[in-house]
Amino acid sequence: MIDLSQFVGQKIAVMGLGKTGLSTVLSLKSVGAQVVVWDDDEGARDYAAGLGIQCTDLTGITFDSVDFLVWSPGVPHTFPSPHPVADRAKSQGIRMISDIDILSISQPDAEYIGVTGTNGKSTTTALIGHTLKEFRPTQIGGNIGIPVLDLDPMGAEGTYVLEMSSYQTELSQFFQPVGVVFLNITPDHLYRHGGLEGYIEAKKKIFSNPPNQERKPIAVICIDTEDCYDIAEELEDDGIWSVVPVSTQKRLDKGVYVEEGILYEMREEGATQIADLKTFENLHGRHNHENIACAYTIIRQIYGAEPDRIIKAMMSFGGLAHRQYLVATINGVQYVNDSKATNADATARALACFRHIQWILGGQPKEGGLDGLDEYMGRIDHAYLIGEAANQFAEWLSLRNVPFTQCGTLDVAVQKAHHAAQIKQKGVVLLSPACASWDQFKSFEHRGDMFAYLVSTLQKEESKKDKTI
Ligand code: ADP
Repeated sequence: MIDLSQFVGQKIAVMGLGKTGLSTVLSLKSVGAQVVVWDDDEGARDYAAGLGIQCTDLTGITFDSVDFLVWSPGVPHTFPSPHPVADRAKSQGIRMISDIDILSISQPDAEYIGVTGTNGKSTTTALIGHTLKEFRPTQIGGNIGIPVLDLDPMGAEGTYVLEMSSYQTELSQFFQPVGVVFLNITPDHLYRHGGLEGYIEAKKKIFSNPPNQERKPIAVICIDTEDCYDIAEELEDDGIWSVVPVSTQKRLDKGVYVEEGILYEMREEGATQIADLKTFENLHGRHNHENIACAYTIIRQIYGAEPDRIIKAMMSFGGLAHRQYLVATINGVQYVNDSKATNADATARALACFRHIQWILGGQPKEGGLDGLDEYMGRIDHAYLIGEAANQFAEWLSLRNVPFTQCGTLDVAVQKAHHAAQIKQKGVVLLSPACASWDQFKSFEHRGDMFAYLVSTLQKEESKKDKTI
């Protein structure tokens, strides 16, 4: 846990008692700092009370003596409607900051890398963290699910690699990254930002506080989406950041690009081949080429590490649970957990990577359902439907002549998919639901863990069979 003794004597308000808010309150309380805390949700307040945290309705207090208001990323403050606490704090000139700011203030000597974008943040953050550990003390945290104040303190020799959602980039004011990875922009969370423009503005704030160093900070930007291309141009014109473009779609005359699965780095002498990304067993697909290329580039640019050492370290990355994660291989059939694919776009990435797919899908449907997935249907041997979306998806699959079975629940789907795959002894049993998980599970992690558990049970049964034969 980060030592927050320097906040003793200050009064800090914390809004929101999810994972991040609780971590902030507990860290501040552990050193005896004065904290006032609130969450609009009664259940969250009750949970906090169980941890010895007393709540005070922040709509009813005067902020006069409050130094900072630490706002949790999960709580909307401006859109879809202004939050009364945020409004009052703003009108009284109280600074609304994030837990990442508290970390930045308390660990000023450490170096920071911020990772943002619409998709691929967690994978890229974890990959940078895994690889950079080979070179220097490194910890990852933030939106990836590890509250930053739960990390360990580090001095100048260490690097915090932080995944930042738009909710965190828009709040953070003291965060001074030596490097930023900006992956891509597609419309997401628009209701929280009043539209696409607001979303992009929120994300761009990651660049608004460069460190005061002789060396320019590094901005690695994948320029394959139009908005990211524009951001790269804008930053380049400003001249404060050293912009290094990355592409998986076209050759570049500066930066790093991927062509036919090969990673190239542009140097003075021309394009230099760095690695064959098709050999990265745990990072399938073009979307992961973007993640690998960006992770490679930021480490190479900031720390000047040798390409071969970076690639070697990257290749031992085991993948991130719930994102096309290989849970097991049984008699030549792969069992892949892609529970994080909660919409059709994310599922498309997984379907593009495999053939002979026994596809488990369904849950709480998103707007648009399975639209956009037509081109992958030739890869599906059979679909297994679960959850609320089952009837809607059955209709969609019927229209495209994809064979399917109504399974209701995940255990039935896994059992049936396993049986079919084992007859052929090839292909993949893929959980890539294209739906939220909340109709049957607590979270996408819960759903993915259940899949992994069910597969491990089948694996044990298969190995017993082998022994008896
Ligand atoms: P995030 O943290 O931004 O939600 P993740 O790394 O958790 O991203 O990946 C979530 C899903 O998004 C993956 O299962 C994959 O389908 C898709 N994805 C991953 N990387 C990218 C990328 N660079 N571009 C587009 N989609 C991606």
